[in-house]
Amino acid sequence: MNLMEGTDKMREIQDAPVLALANVESAYGPVKAIRGVSLAVQRGSIATVLGANGAGKTTILKTISGVLDPTRGSIAFKGESIAAMDPAQIVRRGLSHVPEGREVFPLLSVRDNLLMGAYTRRDRDGVARDMEAVYGYFPVLRERAGQDAGLLSGGQQQMLAISRALMAAPELILLDEPSLGLSPKLTKDIFEIVVRINRERGTTILLVEQNANMALNAADYGYVLENGRIVAEDTCAVLREKDDIKEFYLGMKDSGVRGERRWKKRKTWR
Ligand code: ATP
Repeated sequence: MNLMEGTDKMREIQDAPVLALANVESAYGPVKAIRGVSLAVQRGSIATVLGANGAGKTTILKTISGVLDPTRGSIAFKGESIAAMDPAQIVRRGLSHVPEGREVFPLLSVRDNLLMGAYTRRDRDGVARDMEAVYGYFPVLRERAGQDAGLLSGGQQQMLAISRALMAAPELILLDEPSLGLSPKLTKDIFEIVVRINRERGTTILLVEQNANMALNAADYGYVLENGRIVAEDTCAVLREKDDIKEFYLGMKDSGVRGERRWKKRKTWR
């Protein structure tokens, strides 16, 4: 190999996405939920997958984190295939999943929930440092450290779920719909912290959201998912200016007091 080839190779490795999906399909029994999804997440970036209710966003994250086995396609994390691995193996490789609906352990204290996130780690000093770091991001968790997690509000449980994922010291966090059921103010606060975590710790983030406005402002690169297929992708700066996307924003309405969102679809990307 000559020197130039070597330099090119180095660049290729540095530019290689930390996560890459190619033609991934997943199903629940006979129901195909995602169909031929390909996407790439660059190291240190925030990527987002936007889509309506039932488009398959949660399924993509479950398939990446090993909760669901893909029926076709490949999934590479840091260049290694993880498609056949179970969730615990994947967490150990540096990939944490914050599931939809938070799923904190309600009868454990906030502190013990955080320690559960660090169960794969042996570096006690690092765990203590990260505990301080998450209390820095979310001071209310320090105030509530001894309280059962089930007593926290929805927003605080979302903070705890993100923090528990951080306690595994991940390189990549999969974040499923953090805005679900939260007030606009809390959603904004949580998104600001997510962006800080990305900037300050260099943690790569793949975020799925129905709240396109928040997601496109926070993320660098976006994919639009419809009926299990990626129908558009671009930098978020470009996606924000697209008429189709703007139309989707305008079609997005709050419904009901829980702040759940419903998409009024006037147009699709086909
Ligand atoms: P939401 O925002 O409502 O969570 P989503 O975009 O995350 O939507 P998924 O939850 O991934 O969508 O669902 C994709 C498709 O798979 C939907 O048609 C849904 O009905 C179906 N589905 C999801 N979970 C299951 C399940 N456990 N069993 C059968 N079908 C399922």
